[in-house]
Amino acid sequence: MTRLYTFPGGVKLKGHKAISTSQPISKADIPARLFVPLNQSIGSPAECIVEKGQRVLKGQMIGRATEYVAAPVHAPSSGTVIDIQKFPAAHASGLPNDVVIIKPDGKDEWLERKPLPDITKLDSSELRNMIRCAGIVGLGGAAFPTFIKLNPVGHQISTLILNGAECEPYISCDDMLMRERPHEIIEGAKIMRHALDARQVIIAIEENKPEAIASLQAFAEDINWLHVQSIPVIYPTGGERQLIKVLTGKDVPSHGLPLDLDLVVNNVATAAAVHHALDHQQPLISRIITVTGSGVRSPCNIEALIGTPMSDLIEMAGGYTEDADRLIMGGPMMGITLKTDATPVVKASNCLLVQTPADHSTEAITRPCIRCGECVKVCPVKLLPQQLYWFSQAKNLDDLQSHNLFDCIECGCCSIVCPSHIPLVQYFRYGKSEIWKKEQETIRADRARKRTEAKIQRLERIKAEKKAQHAARAKKSAAGADRKKEIQAAVARAKAKKTENADHTENLDM
Ligand code: SF4
Ligand code: SF4
Repeated sequence: MTRLYTFPGGVKLKGHKAISTSQPISKADIPARLFVPLNQSIGSPAECIVEKGQRVLKGQMIGRATEYVAAPVHAPSSGTVIDIQKFPAAHASGLPNDVVIIKPDGKDEWLERKPLPDITKLDSSELRNMIRCAGIVGLGGAAFPTFIKLNPVGHQISTLILNGAECEPYISCDDMLMRERPHEIIEGAKIMRHALDARQVIIAIEENKPEAIASLQAFAEDINWLHVQSIPVIYPTGGERQLIKVLTGKDVPSHGLPLDLDLVVNNVATAAAVHHALDHQQPLISRIITVTGSGVRSPCNIEALIGTPMSDLIEMAGGYTEDADRLIMGGPMMGITLKTDATPVVKASNCLLVQTPADHSTEAITRPCIRCGECVKVCPVKLLPQQLYWFSQAKNLDDLQSHNLFDCIECGCCSIVCPSHIPLVQYFRYGKSEIWKKEQETIRADRARKRTEAKIQRLERIKAEKKAQHAARAKKSAAGADRKKEIQAAVARAKAKKTENADHTENLDM
């Protein structure tokens, strides 16, 4: 496959990736405390199944999924649960999350693992179930439960695309994984292809990662269903829809899914996690995270246990520079600002970016929109960002929706080119949250209305039943009175007849 296509818009950005790729992936020590959030995926949080004081083993499930869109969480090392409490979370809302705090015992003792049957002999539903139990979610940052993506109900999947584009500046964890551990990705690809019954697998990598491309190509040479494809460097080519457009020329329909084109897209690190889960029975308890930016002394990539405080990783990366002033989980375009470095690593933590004032010096000088249209030119989903901005400012939620706000992938292209430095994405996130809030209020009001209607109906039914019972009792008692009267009348009649007969007998005697 060589023909490639382009998607609308996009921007060329400085990569800043080389600063974190000069040294191999290092491994973080087990921290003094592990802070494992129960909510680490899209969907419902896991339900805690351990208690304070309980000993847990490495790989033991500590939070189970109770809904379909959810993922379980596991103990990253052996130790004792010392608390279950609210803790700052690596989440856009910034709200505290329920966290299981484990004091590791240093033994790193695994839960007993039974040997697995031959993966190729398992059917796709068994594979999906094992992937689900291992708590695998998309490691590109979206954290969508992987087993759902591997369940293409009603579709014959032609191609599984493994996304190794890693287009956002500074992030290099996938690049380093592809360079150093290509076999893990390919073994995961085999399992995912088997689960999907897909004809082929394409691993797509931006052409600014020649080492990663060479590394995977060397492994892929003898595999006829696998193709490693280099793609042009333009942001946000790693977006699911943009990547599909580049590789196939096809557009995923608005409100649709890649499945509608018989395609499935997963991240390369997710494939490696699937390999660990099925070939080594290791649930998702660690990940590679890039620790980088001008605010750390020695940017690098670290494999850390989920639950490790970010402060430990900063130390491994040589500590803060003197002017470090902002922490971002993710990249500079789509990442979320963290309030504290006590925040733990979660499954979605692909990067910890430490910035200095020089990195965000333009943010303070926001000016009015001059209607230049630059934001429209770069939008990869053909939205009208300046219009959306007006509607967000005016809290015009209906127009925001009718202008497809929810197609916005929050890539930040519009914000970065805006000469007035308007933080457009922040307005769009705000607009989306207002619409969700309104929808939730509507749902709540609807539920309350239905509850009230049901209550009124119940009271009316009880009233009607009581009335009917009363009427039935009255009828029964009236019937009883009538019967009594009938009996009394019959007795009176019998008495009268007896008297009459006696009189008649007396008359005969005379
Ligand atoms: S780029 Fe900025 S100034 Fe130009 S139209 Fe868009 S919002 Fe307005
Ligand atoms: S953030 Fe949204 S509106 Fe702005 S360019 Fe990206 S997709 Fe378009």
